[in-house]
Amino acid sequence: ADSYVGFDTITSQIEHKLLKRGFQFNVIVVGQTGLGKSTLINTIFASHLIDSKGRLEADEPVRQTTEIHPVSHVVVEHGVRLRLNIVDTPGYGDQVNNENCWDPIVKYIKDQHSAYLRKELTAMRDRHIQDTRIHCCLFFINPTGHSLRPIDIIVMKKLSEVVNVVPVIAKSDSLTLEEREAFKLKIKAELDYHSIRLYPFDTEDNDEEEIQLNARIRNMIPFAVVGSEKNILIDGKTVRGRKNRWGVVNVEDEKHCEFVYLRNFLTRTHLQDLIETTAQIHYEAFRSKQLLALKE
Ligand code: GDP
Ligand code: MG
Repeated sequence: ADSYVGFDTITSQIEHKLLKRGFQFNVIVVGQTGLGKSTLINTIFASHLIDSKGRLEADEPVRQTTEIHPVSHVVVEHGVRLRLNIVDTPGYGDQVNNENCWDPIVKYIKDQHSAYLRKELTAMRDRHIQDTRIHCCLFFINPTGHSLRPIDIIVMKKLSEVVNVVPVIAKSDSLTLEEREAFKLKIKAELDYHSIRLYPFDTEDNDEEEIQLNARIRNMIPFAVVGSEKNILIDGKTVRGRKNRWGVVNVEDEKHCEFVYLRNFLTRTHLQDLIETTAQIHYEAFRSKQLLALKE
């Protein structure tokens, strides 16, 4: 009767180990200056930050980014530690001559792979390696309502070859709901036309539930978002929102924008998969190429 061995405790053993170590999640934000990149990041994570007061860039308000700039934060929720690296990039494509303006961003991403590979080759097998590989690239699209700029298509293509790219329609409160839907379809058609392969990818070991979830996410991408660092009062409740001459936008209201869907996707449904996909697809591709080159 007493044949219980106890290996079912492995899940809590793993959990204990992982919780102690915490999770590392690295995000890069790309897009023109002024599209609300810093604001959106703050809207997603700032309320949970324990190591800085309020704004992620507390000491440098609305600073215009001139270089690729990683900032580390620790976010804690119910005892789970998330070490968050946010990498801000200079608004690319702001210049008159945008030739190769994506190079520094692609190089930054590859440099992190390279650093990881170096540590992997030298570190002791079981020692934990500090991971700066970029797990997600939030790509901000100007809410023009027309179409993507040629430069956006080129940059998204380049980026999608090295990192999980998640496009968002920035400041979507500037579009009507009809304009927003039409713009989305237009963007999807363009991405399709240019064969830009975006995250999430389906793999053989996805089950039916995961396949459906991914299809829903793909259908929603690009997320039409609104960010705000201000709390406003709606029906006696304080919410993140924007007030303009015509009324208020409640960032967390699905009828107003898709911020909540993006946040759920990033933090609740796909955090682990973004991390795994980075290691298994993007890093692995980099690694095998490098190791091949070494042999030659
Ligand atoms: P960044 O240069 O891309 O980092 O842009 P910022 O986050 O600094 O935002 C630039 C300006 O746009 C600020 O005045 C923000 O308050 C405003 N802004 C940010 N997000 C939104 C949004 O979703 N809608 C609108 N209407 N304005 C926004
Ligand atoms: Mg910024």
